[in-house]
Amino acid sequence: MSSSPKTTTELRTHGLGVSVGIAVGPVIRMDARGRQALFVRVLPSRIPHEIKRLQRAVQTARHHLERIKQRLQRDFGQNHGYILDPHILMLEDPLLVQSIEDTIRTNQVNAEWGVKIAVGNLLAACETIRDDYLRERTSDIQDVANRLIDVLSGRRTSNIHVTQPSIIVAEDILPTVMAELDLNQVMGIATDAGGWTSHTAIIARSLGVPAVLGLGTFAQHVKTGDVCVVDGTGSCVVLNPSLKTQKAYQDKLAREQNQKQAVLEQVTLPAITTDKVECLLRANLELASELPVLHKSGASGIGLFRSEFLYLNSLPNLPTEEEHLKIYQQLVKAAGPAGVTVRTIDLGSDKIKTDELFAEEKNSALGLHGIRFSLKHHQVFRTQLRALLRAAHTGKLQVMLPKVGCVSELRKARAILSEISQELTAEGIPHAENVPLGVMVELPSAVQIADKLAQEADFLSIGSNDLIQYTLVVDRSNPNVAMLYEPLHPAVLRSFRLLIEAARKTGKALQLCGEMGANPICAVVLLGMGLRQFSMSPASLPKIKNLIRTISIREAERIAAIVLEMDTPAEIKDYLDGELPHCFPQFFQEPGKDLE
Ligand code: PEP
Ligand code: MG
Repeated sequence: MSSSPKTTTELRTHGLGVSVGIAVGPVIRMDARGRQALFVRVLPSRIPHEIKRLQRAVQTARHHLERIKQRLQRDFGQNHGYILDPHILMLEDPLLVQSIEDTIRTNQVNAEWGVKIAVGNLLAACETIRDDYLRERTSDIQDVANRLIDVLSGRRTSNIHVTQPSIIVAEDILPTVMAELDLNQVMGIATDAGGWTSHTAIIARSLGVPAVLGLGTFAQHVKTGDVCVVDGTGSCVVLNPSLKTQKAYQDKLAREQNQKQAVLEQVTLPAITTDKVECLLRANLELASELPVLHKSGASGIGLFRSEFLYLNSLPNLPTEEEHLKIYQQLVKAAGPAGVTVRTIDLGSDKIKTDELFAEEKNSALGLHGIRFSLKHHQVFRTQLRALLRAAHTGKLQVMLPKVGCVSELRKARAILSEISQELTAEGIPHAENVPLGVMVELPSAVQIADKLAQEADFLSIGSNDLIQYTLVVDRSNPNVAMLYEPLHPAVLRSFRLLIEAARKTGKALQLCGEMGANPICAVVLLGMGLRQFSMSPASLPKIKNLIRTISIREAERIAAIVLEMDTPAEIKDYLDGELPHCFPQFFQEPGKDLE
């Protein structure tokens, strides 16, 4: 239990806004820490009995998890069930069970204590690993241990009943606990731990629940019944908001809901400005189970399918060609004539670790990721490309290479693609011959050679999430430097200017598929600079379509020209906070009421 005093004054904390939107409501404070386990020293003759209890508990816990998995698949789609696979696999892992049994024998203790000690040792070993993906998986281990201790001690694991719309606040939300919540009643989520790749983030995004994670020590100030604001768009939470703050957020929420309503009524209308400039809005998807929201969001196709989730879902194995194909065919069918852009595997050891392929790296952000990984592990790449060419035969699909830093990488990938096409022809397998091949611009090196890349690639897509992090040298998921992650930094804007110029000169399509495009203030600047194609999470699309239908490009160009002359992000933000409500009052709130 935390010794920190609970606060009744307003407390605003910034974190990672992993799912956009605003929620204001009463808190349910969840406790995700390790369970209290009873310690009993047992006689040597009782040890076989304790081991039997452990083995029975493992079976029971597995059955519970299988049941939750089935419920998740039924309520939220097949792909959500994978969230529990690591837990089920852990319970099937003879090494884990063996190490608990050894602990029981060596220490002559009861099964509960055996679980606590053995898992504690495992977690301590994981703590030393500097790897976001693996660190996030430690919560899976804790989750499994809690479940075993609950079964052994006859406790109900799911003791959180969300019976009214509530904000969930916790140090962390363990995946199986998340899976057992009545997610229809969850208005917002705020946790101290977690990052972009955590399950909490993935589920929140796909259900459109506002969520701010990585809040450090926020949860210790919160108790059930407190009122809290979760502002996923502004990446902050406010505990005990004053009446004034509550009113401001409720107004903002009402405005967002009105806008949402207005746009939902117009989702089929084109994204066209008041001075008749047409834009293209596409959706970023991570799971095929998100396809139902594609049409509701008004997207013109899929601008980014993050195919790495296929790999994360199939661990510890790699997906087969047929597994790839099945998903890509679903995407092609759902996207229709607007088409789908599938990004090839973008994984590095920062996100995934299987023994040989993703060996640990000291500095994984600068390591073997994106296209570098695919060019090193040809077989993995070829399996994916074969499926992509086969799926492209059934509809409109283009292929996009992540984290390209040199023209040679594009050339090598193109050569492999053409080899694969010949191979499929020789095998008599139907496939598309000329699939457009584009690159993501996420590295400063790619910006510097934008003219060359634009000449050779069929299209460019700006991955601003990474481009900002690599340009500003600010880890996009590190809360300690979150205040330095500035999409409107002049260095970032100058990079965009180079890219827009390169695309214009070569006549190649340029889209932005980072979440920056979902921020209306940034979107005005980007439109004013000349960007016309955006891809973003489906939940953000209606709002940006509404923005586009409200503004004039001429005004946006005037604003962007002024912004490009400015020296600092703070100057730029101050200017835009004052200017946008005057220029586009239908969309932006009145001056003086800005909350961010
Ligand atoms: C990006 O970097 O902007 C991007 C879209 O890719 P991801 O967020 O998947 O790294
Ligand atoms: Mg990226």
